[in-house]
Amino acid sequence: MHPFSKADFLFQFYACTCIFVCQEAAIGMLFSALINQQQARERLLQMVAHQRVPHALLFREPEGSGGLLLAIAFATYVLCEQPTANEACGQCSSCQKMDRLMHPDVHFSFPVVSRKSGSEPTSDDYLQEWREFLREFPYGDLQDWLQLIQAENRQGNITAAECREIVRKLSLKSFEGKYKILILWLPEFLGQQGNRLLKLIEEPPEDTLMLFVSQQPQRILGTITSRLQTIQLSPLPPEEIAQALIARAKAHPQIAAQISLAAEGNYRQALRLLHDAHANWLDLLRNWLNAIAKQQIPALVQWMEEIGSSKTGREQQKFFLQYFLNLIEKTLQAHYLPPANLHLPPAEQDFVNRLKQQLSFSQLVSLSEKLNAAIYHIERNAYAKLVFHALTLQLQDLLIRTPTSA
Ligand SMILES: [Zn+2]
Repeated sequence: MHPFSKADFLFQFYACTCIFVCQEAAIGMLFSALINQQQARERLLQMVAHQRVPHALLFREPEGSGGLLLAIAFATYVLCEQPTANEACGQCSSCQKMDRLMHPDVHFSFPVVSRKSGSEPTSDDYLQEWREFLREFPYGDLQDWLQLIQAENRQGNITAAECREIVRKLSLKSFEGKYKILILWLPEFLGQQGNRLLKLIEEPPEDTLMLFVSQQPQRILGTITSRLQTIQLSPLPPEEIAQALIARAKAHPQIAAQISLAAEGNYRQALRLLHDAHANWLDLLRNWLNAIAKQQIPALVQWMEEIGSSKTGREQQKFFLQYFLNLIEKTLQAHYLPPANLHLPPAEQDFVNRLKQQLSFSQLVSLSEKLNAAIYHIERNAYAKLVFHALTLQLQDLLIRTPTSA
């Protein structure tokens, strides 16, 4: 019997039901505000415990994994007046200033655009917006930032004037007698101006701490990266993303689980997906496979029309495929891992069990290649309806024409 034939789901899109609240609660500037990154956190704490904090660190983060937040939490920790072994107190006057993002010894640098033509902007021109950005989008990316400062189509950069400001600020005495800290977000936007910081990094003034947070370290001048110690962040595991979506963004658990499987370890991306969630992807996927297995041609045609339409949008199409791909990967893993190690919610686990019975290992591998190719084409603006049509035919081959005996 076909594993999908028992279920008889009504074909329907959950058209923009908007049942989710996507606003996040304020989370503070402490380590505890971070999703995961236990390993990177431990390394930083060890440095402090052994009094071996280097004067310049490079946080390499896969997008949406919390690099900026980690750098700020670290700054909060080293400046805290009464830290414990693994967290700042959150109460002392230094912690309070950090919480307001107004500590006089902490300087932020980030890409900006000029407000009027001819003038060279510095980060200080945008401090108010910056605080707003950090509060509203602690996992925000460049797109969020440029939108917030209404950069329109201009690309931000970190200017020569900003580099001069950095050198000036770090040469001053610290106000509160501890570290002077620079948190520089996206040093890849320094370009050749980075040379202006070389001497500072090479021979830093006393009690200086420079924290660089980069998503594309390969774009930073080699003369800079070679002088920095690296803290590597990891992409967030799906189960952590799902938990955070439920706890912080009040997402429905089922939707959170689905999104977490498509977000590629990027919490900011997960929030975007939550915000734009049009469909229950698992139902959508079941409907598709059911219609294929039962050869319900009208339902299939309607399905392809809907998913391929511009109303669904390229991002949703891509992430729906990413979600399916992730379930295929979990099904492959299910061949050698017990269910508990797959960290799947019950509905997805059930789906994976059925898929595992239906398709052989090599069929799953072949399907994952096809899904990867489809994602590639969608990303490059291929005609979406055609992509889904081709995929449907390929799935038909797998599900009907060459059934396995398993
Ligand atoms: Zn404190």
